[in-house]
Amino acid sequence: MKFSAVIVAAGKGARAGAGTPKQWRSLAGRPVARWSLEALLAAGARGVVVVVSPGDEARARAAFAGLEGWTLATGGADLAALDGGTEAVLIHDAARPFVQSGHVEALLAALADAPGAVPALAVSDTLKRDGVDGLSTTPREGLFRAQTPQAFRLAALLEAYAAWPADETPTDDAAVLERAGGRVARTPGDPMLMKLTYAEDFAMAERLAVSAARITRTGFGYDAHRFGPGQSVWLCGVEIAHDKTLVGHSDADAGLHALTDALLGAVGEGDIGDHFPPSDPQWRGVSSDRFLRHALDLVRAKGGQVVNVDVTLICERPRIKPHREVMRARLAEILQLPLDRVSVKATTTEGMGFTGREEGLAAQAVATVETAG
Ligand code: MG
Repeated sequence: MKFSAVIVAAGKGARAGAGTPKQWRSLAGRPVARWSLEALLAAGARGVVVVVSPGDEARARAAFAGLEGWTLATGGADLAALDGGTEAVLIHDAARPFVQSGHVEALLAALADAPGAVPALAVSDTLKRDGVDGLSTTPREGLFRAQTPQAFRLAALLEAYAAWPADETPTDDAAVLERAGGRVARTPGDPMLMKLTYAEDFAMAERLAVSAARITRTGFGYDAHRFGPGQSVWLCGVEIAHDKTLVGHSDADAGLHALTDALLGAVGEGDIGDHFPPSDPQWRGVSSDRFLRHALDLVRAKGGQVVNVDVTLICERPRIKPHREVMRARLAEILQLPLDRVSVKATTTEGMGFTGREEGLAAQAVATVETAG
């Protein structure tokens, strides 16, 4: 269904504290009204009209810089002038920044059976009326809290507004349709459609916005080293007695190298060779936990944290299983993670290939990282 949207961003926002009206205040680095405009454009709205107070035009243009598909209106939106061919319109309060495509889809679907639709949350708190004799309880059954965006078939809303008495002010747009006898359907409300009203609402919204903006990334790493004469191998930061050693520029810990590459891959920071070139003599014989710590520093420099890691060692010998728990503990220590977020596994290749012939050992690793963006 082709639809347009009106974002009402004309409030003075006095209850949210002094200074800038709430719709223009910054929320996790973006103006509050921009959150709604971006979300409605992403949901498919065309020709979005943002209603602002006279004098706020420059502030609005700055807030919406770089976005396309919107126009400004002062003193109310001209619904009849909405983008040609629009069947439906969503009317949204800019003070509710967390609208998502799913909310819009549910509303548009509801318009198939009703000329209007509103997301509404059941009232869960006991309601009291404060009177001269103190508080009294009001039944809450069948009561809902209306949120926005509210969706309407455009023709039905225009007709309803034409019939609305000029001397009255509707509490919301759905009330206009209701008065005209049009059915308003209910779609599921969402606590995330909270309205920023008071100063303390901003503190909660800021936390929600920051967590909503975090993204999950995955990185993969692979490494292999050749066996040579020796008495021990280093794997996942643990020295294991063996009748061979692993040959490499550093301590040849393929497990740590694969894991380092996985972390670097998760944050798009190249590979281990970019950071520690084998041609550089300073890395000769160095303990590979240094490489992993460097990758961890790069994750943290992006405001990120490691969620979990999973390493698979591929060899016939040495047997890994007796050392797995020590390896996990060592990785958990280097990465400063709880033990259950670190996995070390092992497999053979049943005598096949270079690992099967015990010419060398290979390792694979996956790391999941959460970052601020
Ligand atoms: Mg290596």
